[in-house]
Amino acid sequence: MGMRIRLPEKVRTILGQLAAHGYEGYAVGGCVRDSLLGRMPNDWDITTSASPTQVKELFSHTFDTGIEHGTVTVLLGTEGFEVTTYRIDGEYADSRHPREVRFTSSLREDLRRRDFTINAMAYSESAGLVDLFGGVQDLERGVIRCVGEAEERFGEDALRMLRAVRFSAQLGFEIEERTAAAIQKLAPALKRISAERVQAELVKLLESPHPDWLRKAWETGITAVVLPEFDRMMEQPQNNAHHIHSVGEHTLETLRQIPADKVLRLTMLIHDMGKTECVTQDEKGIYHFRGHAAYSASIGKKVMKRLKFDNETTARVSRLVANHSLYPEATPEGVRRSVRQIGEDLFPLFLEVKKADVLGQSPAVWQAKLAYLDQIRRLYEEILVRGDCLSLKRLAVTGNDLIRDGAKPGPELGKILETLLDEVLECPEKNEKEYLMARSRCLRNQENSCGSGKCCI
Ligand code: ATP
Ligand code: MG
Repeated sequence: MGMRIRLPEKVRTILGQLAAHGYEGYAVGGCVRDSLLGRMPNDWDITTSASPTQVKELFSHTFDTGIEHGTVTVLLGTEGFEVTTYRIDGEYADSRHPREVRFTSSLREDLRRRDFTINAMAYSESAGLVDLFGGVQDLERGVIRCVGEAEERFGEDALRMLRAVRFSAQLGFEIEERTAAAIQKLAPALKRISAERVQAELVKLLESPHPDWLRKAWETGITAVVLPEFDRMMEQPQNNAHHIHSVGEHTLETLRQIPADKVLRLTMLIHDMGKTECVTQDEKGIYHFRGHAAYSASIGKKVMKRLKFDNETTARVSRLVANHSLYPEATPEGVRRSVRQIGEDLFPLFLEVKKADVLGQSPAVWQAKLAYLDQIRRLYEEILVRGDCLSLKRLAVTGNDLIRDGAKPGPELGKILETLLDEVLECPEKNEKEYLMARSRCLRNQENSCGSGKCCI
């Protein structure tokens, strides 16, 4: 592992400016870890002996990000860098909030408060790498290990337990034994952590290269606290022709099979949650889960609300979950109708969901189901190439056209537009203004005035 890090020009500028005024300054935390691993850091955080006021005096463009925690954002051009004063997190009152934050002149103290050895290294060109807790060794061994006593550190801030699993999944690292044992023991303390913080770590875990390592969160008792719905799935067998796994194992497999996108991964996590609520067993002992997609969507909404997901993400995930067991008829019309139902925006994601769902099922069913999905995808691509109308947006008449033609605004008008769209979905050639105007007159007057002879009542 190379111990030299190429700092970005702007980071060197900031460190240089600090040094020129007699302050210490280092790149610290995630950016050092990622650089040593040869990964592109998300952002470059800086730690310094200068106080927030002193930092603000040295740079012309700054704003207070978390001034009470000692963090000032320094703007160079359009890029912002968080510069934080060396600090000690005082005694922790309730496994989440330090009672007080104290500044210190000691880099060592600042590094000591950080969660894991691999996150507790600092770097500057003049001092080189500062690794006081064996971070490099743990990077080389692929280990997530607390700085200091794991139980003590998780007692200070319970979120660190979920962070351990998240970093493990992001980096493909194992959680060191004592650290894992401490999680096992202290996981219940996660119930006091705010939903927003849990959500952020859960999403990073799901978006990682090992989303199925959510298993570790289950094994250590973390999901029992923050996502008990997942534990229910792990306990739910599904003895039928489609499946060889429990609902939970199937869910983990589908997470592995879907691209690393937040909405897609959340959809797979939730797609079968409702199975535990609607399971029935027939006389042969076969499991059935009729209507499970709707149950899953409703449980998923509750889970996402509890974890304080934003409305748009929740709506997109719910729509995909609610529709995931839809089987479009393999005809152009069948596909157009399902695009209409699922939404033009989500249909490509729906195809990904279907595919991952199949790959999480018994290999015995793969061939037939994947061939069917290929056919749906081909039909969908042809529809896009032809530019078939799939929604009111592309209908050749608008509500205003009909109003100018004498229709009354209101729900009745909406129904007429839906009927016109329905006919166009069946038969795209009908998407012509003149024809649709005439057709709308028939619908309004309940009489044949379009003269086409092919459509009217
Ligand atoms: P990412 O690449 O996901 O941003 P990161 O390591 O930068 O990873 P952040 O959550 O941005 O993670 O935190 C930045 C640094 O702050 C960490 O590397 C770690 O040193 C420290 N840190 C963050 N959260 C905690 C915490 N809960 N307890 C102790 N130290 C923490
Ligand atoms: Mg970061």
